[in-house]
Amino acid sequence: MDGFYDVVNTGPLSFDPSRAFALAFLRAASRTPAGRIFEAGEGAFRLKGEDIPPRNLLDHIFTLLDNDRCANFVSNLINVARQLTGKKPFTYDGKKLALAVAKQINGGFILRPGASGGGGGGSAYGDIFSGEATVEITMFNTAYGPRHPVRVQYAYALAALHELLHLAGGGASFNDGSRAYYSDVVLAQATYILTGAPGYPKNYDPTMPWYKITAQMTADAGNYWNDQLKEHCKPQEYYDVK
Ligand SMILES: [Zn+2]
Repeated sequence: MDGFYDVVNTGPLSFDPSRAFALAFLRAASRTPAGRIFEAGEGAFRLKGEDIPPRNLLDHIFTLLDNDRCANFVSNLINVARQLTGKKPFTYDGKKLALAVAKQINGGFILRPGASGGGGGGSAYGDIFSGEATVEITMFNTAYGPRHPVRVQYAYALAALHELLHLAGGGASFNDGSRAYYSDVVLAQATYILTGAPGYPKNYDPTMPWYKITAQMTADAGNYWNDQLKEHCKPQEYYDVK
């Protein structure tokens, strides 16, 4: 049809394969000037970039823990979490914890694709005393912007360290190890006891039964203690950079 119509072609509209793409498509189409026709070129349908893989993840976790301030904070968090839950940890040592999870027979570190977003996020499940402790890390994807090659590795290491702390006390039940004893609300309370850092979420009572803890409470608690984990463990030279 080129030559007959004045065609408005487009570059990539959105890297999001779902709703965001549909919205971007409609927006671009509706902006077409009168007398022209909208044509989404092949480039408009580029749906994803490249995942950025973690490299030497254990090495980067160890580098964080080589900093005494970080290693002590991790050990102290585990110690207070033990006091709050009455559940003895697998170890108080961050490096031993990382190695133990890496060697779990039915667990270990797992990478998830980042094309749908959530890069640098993580989750943890499985009981470390049963060889099932698992850390999942979602990879950053270049579709959401470039990443500094070194900083991105420490972002993965920090995400992994957060998840490792959940696993230190084991899973709350044999069948559902995803309910870690050292949950986000427990680790948030432990962090508050240790640091007194402002912003401790007051929208829940940490002694309430686990089934009354909502996803929002967990998210608020997770953000609170993760900020302090970063404050204690993020390498100084990268502190100001996301
Ligand atoms: Zn968490």
